[in-house]
Amino acid sequence: MRKRMKTMLPRAVCAAAALLMLLTAGCGAKGPYTVIDASSMTETKDVSARTVEGECLVYTEKGDVFRAEDYKVRETLTGVITDPPKRTVMDAAKQAGEWLDAGERVMIIYIDGLGWQAFERAVGDGALPNLEKLSSEMCASVYPTITPVNYAAMVTGRPPAENGVTKRGIHAIGCDTVFTYAASLGLASYVSEGDIQILALPDAEMELSPDLNGSGTGDDEIFGCAMEHMSSCDLLFVHFHSVDDASHEYSPVSEEARDALVTVDGWCGELMSAWDGRVIITSDHGQHVQDGTGDAAYADRKGTHGDFAVSDILVPYLTR
Ligand SMILES: [Zn+2]
Ligand SMILES: [Zn+2]
Repeated sequence: MRKRMKTMLPRAVCAAAALLMLLTAGCGAKGPYTVIDASSMTETKDVSARTVEGECLVYTEKGDVFRAEDYKVRETLTGVITDPPKRTVMDAAKQAGEWLDAGERVMIIYIDGLGWQAFERAVGDGALPNLEKLSSEMCASVYPTITPVNYAAMVTGRPPAENGVTKRGIHAIGCDTVFTYAASLGLASYVSEGDIQILALPDAEMELSPDLNGSGTGDDEIFGCAMEHMSSCDLLFVHFHSVDDASHEYSPVSEEARDALVTVDGWCGELMSAWDGRVIITSDHGQHVQDGTGDAAYADRKGTHGDFAVSDILVPYLTR
C-alpha cells in the first residue's frame, strides 16, 4: 500500500508560486481549456494542439490529474495549472500513510471551503494565531472543486478517475482509503463529521454531529467529539463545515466567513495542543463570489464554488 501510494502521485519538482493575484472564475470542462498560472493570471485560449511549457498539473475530462513537463495537448482538457503548487489534496492520504507507517499518530483537520486566498488574507491580518504556527504550502485540489470529489481524493490519495467519486451523489468510494490502510496496520481511525455522511468510510468509526445546541453550526459538536475520542485512535479525521457554510450564505470575503474561520482556528489550536502526533490541515476547495472576482467589494455577495479557477482550486496545506 505504501509503495503504491508513493507511485500514484509523483513528488513535485517545481516550487509553488509565491504570489497570488485575485482572479475571476475560469471556464469549466466544456470547450477550450483554461490555463491557470498559479502565480498570476488566467489565460483561456482555443488551442487544441499546443504545448504547455514547463512543469504543469494536467486535469483531464475523465478526472485524471497528473504532473507533466512541456505537455503536448492532444485532447480537450478540463484545465491546466502552470507553475503548479508542489502539493495536491491527494497528498493528505499519502503523507498520513507514511507517518502511520513510521509509528506516528496522525490528525487530519479538513476545513471545508477554505481557499488559499482567504487563508492568506486572514494570516496576513494576524487573525489565525494557531494555523499560522504550522508549516504552510499552497495546494491544488482536484476537479470539480466540490466537496465529495475532493473529500474522496483527500482520503484515497487518488484522482477522481481512479477513486470513482467524480461528481455529487456518489457515496461509495471505489478503492481503499487511508482508513483501510490504518486498519491493515492494526490502527484505529475515528472520523468526526457533520450531520450528513458524505462518503461511506467503512474502515473508520464515524460520528455524525448535528447542531444539537442551536449555535448555528455543528462544528462545535464536531470539535467536542474529536476531543473526546482523540485518545482512542491513531488516525483522527475532523471535518469542519462552518467556513464553507458562512462563505455560501454571506460571501467568502464577508466578516461572517472570517469570524467562522477565526473560531475554527481556535478549535484547531485546542485540538493541536491535545494531540501528541502529526497534524495535516487542508481543505477541499475555496470559493468565489457569484458573478464577481473575490474582491472585498463583493462582501455582500453569496459565495459559490465548483469552477476551475484559482479561487476555487487552490487551498492551503498545513503540517506539523
Ligand atoms: Zn466543500
Ligand atoms: Zn460549499
